[in-house]
Parts: sequence; C-alpha cells; structure tokens
Amino acid sequence: MAATNGSLGIVGLCTIQDAPGSAQLTSLEMQAVVSLQGPANSPILIAEGHANAGFVHRLPLQAGQVWQAGTSVLMVRGPAGSADGDAPQPVTFVLRALDAQGVLALQRLHDAAAGSGTAAAAAAAAAAGPQRPQDAQQPPAASQQQLPGGAAGALAVGGHFDSKTDKGSADLYFHYYGCLQHQQNMLQDYIRTGTYYAAIIENPADFRGKAVMDVGCGSGILSLFAAQAGARVVYAVEASDMAHHARALAAANPGIGDRIKVLHGKVEDVVVPEKVDVLVSEPMGTLLVNERMIESYVYARDKHLKPGGRMFPRLGRLHLCAFSDEALYGEVAQKSAFFDSSDFYGVDLTALRQPATSGYFGQVVVDQIPPNVLVSNCITHTLDFLTATEGQLQDITIPLSLQVALPCTVHGIASWFDVLFDGSQTQRWLSTAPGLPVTHWFQLRCLLETPLVVAQPGATVRGELRLLAHNRQSYDVHVVLQAPPLTPGGPMQESRGKFDLKEPYYRQQMQWMMQMAAAGGQEGGEAGVAAAAEVPLPAPLVVAQGAPVEQQQQQQQQPAAMEGV
Ligand code: SAH
Repeated sequence: MAATNGSLGIVGLCTIQDAPGSAQLTSLEMQAVVSLQGPANSPILIAEGHANAGFVHRLPLQAGQVWQAGTSVLMVRGPAGSADGDAPQPVTFVLRALDAQGVLALQRLHDAAAGSGTAAAAAAAAAAGPQRPQDAQQPPAASQQQLPGGAAGALAVGGHFDSKTDKGSADLYFHYYGCLQHQQNMLQDYIRTGTYYAAIIENPADFRGKAVMDVGCGSGILSLFAAQAGARVVYAVEASDMAHHARALAAANPGIGDRIKVLHGKVEDVVVPEKVDVLVSEPMGTLLVNERMIESYVYARDKHLKPGGRMFPRLGRLHLCAFSDEALYGEVAQKSAFFDSSDFYGVDLTALRQPATSGYFGQVVVDQIPPNVLVSNCITHTLDFLTATEGQLQDITIPLSLQVALPCTVHGIASWFDVLFDGSQTQRWLSTAPGLPVTHWFQLRCLLETPLVVAQPGATVRGELRLLAHNRQSYDVHVVLQAPPLTPGGPMQESRGKFDLKEPYYRQQMQWMMQMAAAGGQEGGEAGVAAAAEVPLPAPLVVAQGAPVEQQQQQQQQPAAMEGV
C-alpha cells in the first residue's frame, strides 16, 4: 500500500527506550498523533504528542521493523542510528489503538511498512514459508518422546520439585496454567510480551543456530520467538497440560514451529538430549519471587545450560521504598468494621474484630501505586540468575535504610521489580515500576497495622524485609521498621508485619470498578471509549501471576460487567 501524507489518527503510544549498558530505563506512555510522510517505498512515521505534549519522533519504516500483536497493537522499532531526532539510541514504540479509527490507523501503518518491503524482505518472507508443519517431529507425549540423539524424554519419578512442594498447591497451580484464558492474560500484557519479543529478536547472534530451552513455555510463545530469531532447536518444557496447546501452536506455525520440541513435564524432571546455549523463561511472580519459579529457572541453569550460556532474563531487581497512603490504610482498617456488631442475629461478633483486622493487614496489596505516595529513597536488591543458588532464593533478607523526605506517616513498604535481558547485541529492561505503563504484575505493598510517624524531614527509617519460602510455592514476608522517637528521649517507634505473599488483596480490581462506575456509561468517558473499541486494557483484564488460584476465585466473584472488558 502506498504511503500517504497526513494524519492517520490518534493512538496510545508507549516509548520504550533504554540505553544499552546502563541501569537507566525510560519509558513513557501518552497519546500521540501518528502520520506518514515520504514515498511509498520508504515511508517515514511521524509521531507527535497529542494535545501539545511536545515531542516528535521520526522513524523511517522498513519491513521487519513493524510487528503486529493483534488488531489494536503494533510495535515499531526504529533502525539503529535512525533519524530519530530525540534519541541517540534506536527507539521502540508500542502503539495501541484507542478507538476504531486508531485500529484503522495501525492497519495502514502496518500495510505501509509491509509495502516498503525491499527485495531482502521479500526474500526473507519467501524463506520463512509456507512449509509443511512437521507434526511427526513433535513428540506425542513425554513418556514416549523420541528426542534427537535417540535419548528418551522419560521423566524421573518423585523429582526435586515434588520434594519441596505441597501437592495440593502444585495441582491447583498447574491446573491454572493449563487453562488457555490465563495464558491469554499474560500474552495480552503487551509490555511483557513485547519486551520479550524485542529482547529476543534484537539479539539474533545469541539465538541463530543455537540450542535453546524455554523453561515453563506455557503457550510456547517465547519458544516461537526464539525460533524466529533463528534457533536450531528449542526444547519447550511445560509441566501443565498447556503443553498440548504449545505443541498445536508450534505445528500451526510452519517454518518456525518445526524446530520446537515440546517436553511435557517439570523442568526438574525432563530428560533433554543435549545441553543448551540459551535459557529463556518468564518465571517472575509478584514481588519477583512469588510462585518460586525462579528456583526452577536456576535449577534448569545448573542441569541444562552449557557453561557460559546465556539466560533471558539474566537478572532481576527488587525495589523497595517507604510509602504514605492514608486512603489505603483507612480502607483496609475499615474492612473488619463488620465485626463491631454486638447484635448480629442476636450474636455479639466483637471478639473477632481484632483477629479480622490482623488478617486484613496480613494481606499484601496488589495495585497500581500512584508515584506520589512514595516518600523515601529506594533500596534495590539484585538477584543474579546466572549465579543465585536455590538456597539463596529461599531465604532473602533485605536491609532497609530509608530516608523520608518530609514529615509524614509511613504506612509500609512499596515494591516493584524489573528484569534485564543482557543480550550480546542489545540490552533491554522489563520494568514494573509505578508511573510506567502498567503490566499484569502491577505493584505490591506491605501495609503495616501500626504506621510510623516521621516528624523530622530527612529522618531515617531502618529495618528489614525478609522473604522466607514456604512449600505452597510462595513466601512469608516479614517486615520490621523502626523510626526515631516521637518525643525527645522517648522510645524508638517500631512496627512489625507478617504477610503471606500467596494471600493478596487485589485492590486493582476495586479501583477499576470504581473507575467504571465513575464513567457511568457516559459516552466519551475514557473507560467507555476503550471498552467500545475493545482495546485490550491490561489492567483489568489480566491476572497477576502472584497467586493464580486466589485470583481466579476473586475474578469469579466479580460482577459480569467486569468480564471481557
Ligand atoms: N512462557 C510463557 C508462560 C509463562 S507462565 C509465556 O511467557 O507466556 C509460567 C509457565 O511455567 C506456566 O505455564 C507454568 O505451568 C510453567 N511452569 C512453572 N513451573 C514449572 C516447572 N517447574 N516446570 C515446567 N513448567 C513450569
């Protein structure tokens, strides 16, 4: 299709721009007007800030630099050393259509990029297919797998995973991941999936001709990305019955899927015929470590990765910060007010008020944290997946020394994480920080029943956050904080909290419902417009991986209006 001059429409634009080699990540999400200029064979995408947002990106479009992830999401990567006036580094956009016109705009963009195709692009497309799916190469079941090299993919019985995991927890966990709708939730987190895609595709030197293992492949999406990047073989390991769907998806994508061998079993148990050059995985839960799947990732490293092999992602960082949020505190404290009743059908409930209060404060709060509630510096704790041992992951102590800028009430510790894809050609961060485009992990807070009052600006709150693994695939989180005395010569203030990471309060959904209620079905309301256009808004749609089963139950309790928004 010919490139056009003039505006294509308004879309949501998320710029992902990280400087290779730097710990700094900058991302922003805003509305933009996109237009095309130039001749059909070398169109230039212009993205301008909507409503005087004041920036312009110019990206020459070439085939292979525009990736479509559904009708309303496009990802565009500028060529290295592009003409982008704003940034020295190549820039990547995630473009999301905000309305029906936006969907059309993205389609035209996609077509324009395809139309700009060079002979090289045409040759690449021809090389990629069509080819026959080689179903015969897909092992039919783990117990009968005939793998390259003649090795059988037989499973060890009563393996390492089982020895440390409660069976009921594992059954529910793998049942959850065996359902396609939950895999869809993760796939539709475009910040997540798009960053994985970019990290893999932009590092072909790490994948071309290589043996790769996808630890916990789910639908098999990362395996397919690795195959797109040129992997010789991808061992896609999946413990849940999702393995069957992964196999079907690989078979339905000839040209790449025939290099994927799905192994149905736990990564701790499967037998693989060779050591691999690269591990890819998405093992992160809320607070990075929930689900304890990073332990499976490092187990796979020790068992299946060649010395010097790469891990995508290579490290994860937890960030911790003091927060002050009166509204959240009041909301949670109020939840147990029900037990104040001394005449509930003639029964006095008040004896249960205090234990109910403690129960509510024992839940971690998962939602989008407004950045303005953060009141101190951040403490960063790095987990290096290349070197961490399973033991180190099971007992993590993070000392806290938090300088609180202004007098306020500290209600607890806010946290989020990021992971680094340390490719040999391009580095990328996937961040879940407050203020950045939201992911299905949101952020997490440990809310203290006894808040601390900081009277002096710049006072330091000290303590620690300790994560102790339990056999239900999660952690007990112990927080202790101390603040200076309230009165000169008085005792130090101290507050302690114990939280079960597997017992979250998904406040995000409450916020979403209130937003929907506020929109009140008014046309033109932000939520209404998005819903009408069937834009996949990640926040209300997706299920955090933190505690799949609890979340599933909670979702079932939501009114029907919540579903399919
Ligand atoms: N890689 C997919 C799915 C990520 S969710 C994606 O990025 O979309 C994590 C997946 O790992 C789930 O499907 C879960 O069933 C699987 N998993 C968790 N622990 C595992 C283990 N020990 N062995 C094999 N699969 C595991």
